[in-house]
Amino acid sequence: MVQFLAIAPSKLINHLDCKIVMLKFGSINTNKKSSDKPKAEGESEKVRVLILGSGPAGYTAAIYAARANLKPVMYMGLQAGGQLTTTTEVDNFPGYPEGVTGPKMMEDLQKQAERFGTEVRWGLATSVEFNKEGGAHKVWIDEEKIIEAETVVIATGATAQYLGLESEEKFKGSGVSACATCDGFFYRGQDVAVVGGGDTAAEEATYLAGICNKVYLIIRKPIMRASKAMQDRVARTKNIEVLYEHNTKEIIGGQTVEGAILTNSKGEEKKIDITGFFVAIGHKPNSEIFKDYLDTDETGYLNTIPGTTKTNIPGVFACGDIQDKHYRQAITAAGSGCMAALDSEKYLGERY
Ligand code: NDP
Repeated sequence: MVQFLAIAPSKLINHLDCKIVMLKFGSINTNKKSSDKPKAEGESEKVRVLILGSGPAGYTAAIYAARANLKPVMYMGLQAGGQLTTTTEVDNFPGYPEGVTGPKMMEDLQKQAERFGTEVRWGLATSVEFNKEGGAHKVWIDEEKIIEAETVVIATGATAQYLGLESEEKFKGSGVSACATCDGFFYRGQDVAVVGGGDTAAEEATYLAGICNKVYLIIRKPIMRASKAMQDRVARTKNIEVLYEHNTKEIIGGQTVEGAILTNSKGEEKKIDITGFFVAIGHKPNSEIFKDYLDTDETGYLNTIPGTTKTNIPGVFACGDIQDKHYRQAITAAGSGCMAALDSEKYLGERY
């Protein structure tokens, strides 16, 4: 049985700059195209339902598939437990009147999926060979092991985006983070910045404001995209300074972050003294390895037939954030995970 670590794995990924993941999985470039991957003809295993990804969508699919006696096998992927393991308090998931932490909720979901017989394994899908007519779909795990699955449920979610600055890359793990709730603790009492104007940025800024001395919220537009409720929360938080129409030119420092150079819409530069730089500018769907086979929209989200989790390939289903760029909530991901399991069950019943 796979156990959660005492610290959520995603936090370790942030803190240790992916080293723990590399130890576990080897050095895997997840941005490679499926067709670029070596197709090792190693050990092969046949399964009925293969679930890729371990967020609320993956675990809900697992619970339903396991209860339908389909003996699902899940590979957890790089971020075991998904994005919720980087959240502290979840207040809006039905059934938790007092709220619950993200890692605790994911631990509970894992236990529930395992209780009905889901096999939860460490491992990352590194390439695929989907059968366009349906039938056995091949999925390579960690570039070695081959799973031949009658159905594949893709629940691989989305990954945090970065600005793409050289200096940002340099300070990743030593002052630059994409997860305030994971790393904010290290900056208590200090001055930090958050980049982004969406709900995530607003949420991270208010979270950091509770433990840090001062938070700069750097927004490139003259307006904040976040919901009205979040904007109000930011406005009510005295130690958040919103810098509208500012972009980050460079992050500066020696071994760790000591400041950032910003530019405003008039091209004027401003230096802020900070020790932490938190990036909250959205996410990229983890669909790269499927693109040779599955239809996506222009930003890489998998297309599904409306009202279902069916992709363009029979027996391959998609649920959660990988196919939802609109709602992106734990509860909607869980709902679509349930749909994927029911769609898989129906498909297997009709075909086999
Ligand atoms: P969003 O896509 O909503 O916002 C991204 C923000 O980052 C935007 O303000 C965008 O600016 C900015 N941005 C993007 N690229 C850059 C860049 N290169 N430089 C500077 N700024 C940049 O992502 P979120 O992660 O905030 O939210 C995703 C979804 O999840 C949303 O639907 C949101 O409502 C939801 N969510 C809900 C929460 C809740 O209900 N509690 C909590 C968190 C998220 P611009 O506006 O100019 O494009």
